[in-house]
Amino acid sequence: MTETPHKIAVVGIGKIARDQHLPCIAANPNFELAASVSRNASVEGVTHFTTLEEMLQSRPDIGCVALCTPPQVRYAHATAAIAAGRHVLLEKPPGVSTCEVEDLVTQADDNGLTLFATWHSRHAPAVEQARLWLADKTVRSFKVSWKEDVRRWHPGQKWIWEAGGLGVFDPGINALSIVTEILPDPMHLVSATLQFPENCDTPIAADLQFTDRNGAEILADFDWRQTGPQSWNMQADTDAGHMLLDEGGAKLVIDGETVSQAPPAEYEGIYARFAELLETEKSDVDLSPLRHVADAFMLGRRITVEPFED
Ligand code: NAP
Repeated sequence: MTETPHKIAVVGIGKIARDQHLPCIAANPNFELAASVSRNASVEGVTHFTTLEEMLQSRPDIGCVALCTPPQVRYAHATAAIAAGRHVLLEKPPGVSTCEVEDLVTQADDNGLTLFATWHSRHAPAVEQARLWLADKTVRSFKVSWKEDVRRWHPGQKWIWEAGGLGVFDPGINALSIVTEILPDPMHLVSATLQFPENCDTPIAADLQFTDRNGAEILADFDWRQTGPQSWNMQADTDAGHMLLDEGGAKLVIDGETVSQAPPAEYEGIYARFAELLETEKSDVDLSPLRHVADAFMLGRRITVEPFED
């Protein structure tokens, strides 16, 4: 634990800030929630600002910011925070383009600051075990099924349907963050089909086909129209057995036997990692999940489907 907790401001008090960031900061002795920044919402008992600029100007003692706004405003906020000498934690996705995040890395490096592009799903409890199990195997085929009900998980979030909001890749990038973590070799996209509701800038479903240097067939099926049971799982057939990583990375099944199952503690892991990065004065920015999404938008065939009404 650090001697004095890092003072942190949370920016964008919406669903994920309330569900995860605020409770995890409160539970982590390395951090002290010193301010909230949000145009419309606030946190009871915490100093509040409606703009980031106001907070940066009036609270030089707050060394860290966690950006929990939609991705379309991430770059502007991160640039302002870095220019004001603050360490920055970015919610996923870290930005709306690969180039803008690369520039943030340079800005943070130039200013000797920590930049942490978080991928919360990588902190799911069975992900590291899945990575270790796959490390010495040859993957023959791999299948991701990430299907959920957008009305249940993202009610009323207009930004998600606007350019840069990623649509179904907003959850899909979580799957890609796990796949890029656990596969022993890098993969690349071969083909994709993206389904765009006719009234939206972003897709509601995506079928992706990847391969790797060994010719493995790696498929991903993302769909936001899943009612009933939701599915967040991936399966690998390898030269030495079958792996199922289920429940968003919380459960690992090898050859039909459950070898690991634990309650999710993804954001606890994020704040533990942020404390470690601050302590060691390092940054952690892996762009590979975002690159695969960019490739899908570049290579994907587009189909227009019925309009989406929330
Ligand atoms: P959200 O509920 O819409 O909250 C984001 C908040 O940011 C809004 O309440 C809003 O608060 C503020 N905001 C919105 N547009 C803004 C703008 N143009 N400029 C400045 N502030 C703006 O969204 P969320 O679900 O929390 O998602 C935020 C980020 O977390 C996304 O990148 C998402 O992918 C990620 N995430 C979400 C979840 C989830 O389960 N929802 C899970 C993991 C990660 P004010 O109006 O008060 O400013």
